[in-house]
Amino acid sequence: MSDPQPERVPSVVPAAATPLPLVFNAPRRGKPPTHWADLSPTQRREQVEAAGHRAYRARQLSAHYFEGLRDDPQQWTDLPGGVRDELAAKFMPPLLTTVRELSCDDDTTVKTLWRLHDGALVESVLMRYPDRVTLCVSSQAGCGMACPFCATGQGGLQRNMSTAEIVEQVMDGSRKLDRGLVPGGPADSGGTTGQDRVSNVVFMGMGEPLANYNAVVGAVRQLVTPAPDGLGMSARGITVSTVGLVPRMQQLATEGIPVTLALSLHAPDDELRDELVPINTRWNVDEVVDAAWEYARITKRRVSIEYILIRDMNDQAHRADLLAKVLRRRGNWGWVHVNLIPLNPTPGSVWTASRRRDEAEFVRRLEAKGVPVTVRDTRGREIDGACGQLAAG
Ligand code: SAH
Repeated sequence: MSDPQPERVPSVVPAAATPLPLVFNAPRRGKPPTHWADLSPTQRREQVEAAGHRAYRARQLSAHYFEGLRDDPQQWTDLPGGVRDELAAKFMPPLLTTVRELSCDDDTTVKTLWRLHDGALVESVLMRYPDRVTLCVSSQAGCGMACPFCATGQGGLQRNMSTAEIVEQVMDGSRKLDRGLVPGGPADSGGTTGQDRVSNVVFMGMGEPLANYNAVVGAVRQLVTPAPDGLGMSARGITVSTVGLVPRMQQLATEGIPVTLALSLHAPDDELRDELVPINTRWNVDEVVDAAWEYARITKRRVSIEYILIRDMNDQAHRADLLAKVLRRRGNWGWVHVNLIPLNPTPGSVWTASRRRDEAEFVRRLEAKGVPVTVRDTRGREIDGACGQLAAG
C-alpha cells in the first residue's frame, strides 16, 4: 500500500536515534500525598470525621476549594481559626510548585512548568480565546508512547500523575482567571464578552491519558461533578486525546461521562503509522478507527481525528484520499471530524510542517469526500507550549 518515497525524504526516526521502547506501566515511585481532589464526597465526610471534626465541615471545605477557589485557609472564615490550618495541612497539601511561567499572545497563552512532590516536572498551558478558556493538562510526567515527532515522547516516561495532580492544574488556571491574572476576559471588554472560568480541558499535555486511566477518569469526574462537590464543568468541554489504546477507548465509552475523544491517527495506513505512532504495532489503523467509531456510536459524541501534517511524510494527496476512505467507510452520520495540526518543531527533529499548498490540497481532498475538517490554529509555539513541544526542560 506504500508509494515509493522520494530519496530526499528523511527517514522517520533520525539516523542517530534508536527508537524508544513502548512503556505501558509507569515506574512505581513514592505516591503523592492524598489531596481533597482525590476523594469522593463520601470519603471526604468520612475522613473529616475520622480527623475529629463534624461531617458538615467537608461541604464547607469543598465550597471553598471548588466554588470559592480559595486556597488560602485564612479566607475560610466560616471555620474556626485553629481548624483551618489543620484541615488545610491534612487535606490540601501543595502538589504543584511553579518553576517557571512563560506567556505569549499578549499574555493570553500561559505555559506553566510545575515541579511535583518528588521533583518530577510537568507542564500545563492555559489559552484564553474570546469565547472560551482552554486548559491543556498533563496526565503523566513524560510519556511512554515514543512517538518520534513529539518532544514528550522522546523523553520517556517518569511516572503517572495522581487524580489531584491533574485536577490541581485546572484549579490553578481557574484561580488565575478568578483573580484577573489573565488578560482578555469579561473585565477587559466591559463584561460584554468572554469567559472567566475554564470552559474547556484538553488532555493534550504531557502523557498518554489512557495509559493512566483510573487517575484520568477520576480527574474528569472531579471536574464534571456539580459544585460544591466538584468543579461543575460540562463533560462536553472536556477532550481526552489518545494514541489509540483500544481496550481503554472501549472502557471510556462505558463510563457514562460524554467527554470528547480525540484519536491521534497521523497516518491512514499501517506501514507509516507503525513508524509515526509506534503503538500501532499493537492496535492497527482499522482497530483504532473502529474503536473511535464505536465510541461515537455509544456516546453520541463526535470524535476528533488528530492528524499532524509533516512535509512529504504523511501529507501526500493519496494519503488524504485514503484517510477519507478509511473514515467514510464507517458511515456518514457526522461521527467524525478531522483536525489537521501543522507540525510544530521539536529539538533534534528533522521534519518540518507541510507546504501551504500541500496542506490546502489535503483539506480540499477531505472536503471533496464530505469529511469535516479544520486546520488547528496552534498556540504557544514561541514558548514551546504548542502540541508536541512539552518537554519540561
Ligand atoms: N498522548 C496523547 C495525548 C497528547 S496530545 C496523544 O498523543 O493523543 C498531543 C497532541 O499533539 C497529539 O495529537 C499529538 O500527536 C500532537 N503532537 C505531538 N507532537 C507534535 C508536534 N511536534 N507538532 C504538532 N502536534 C504534535
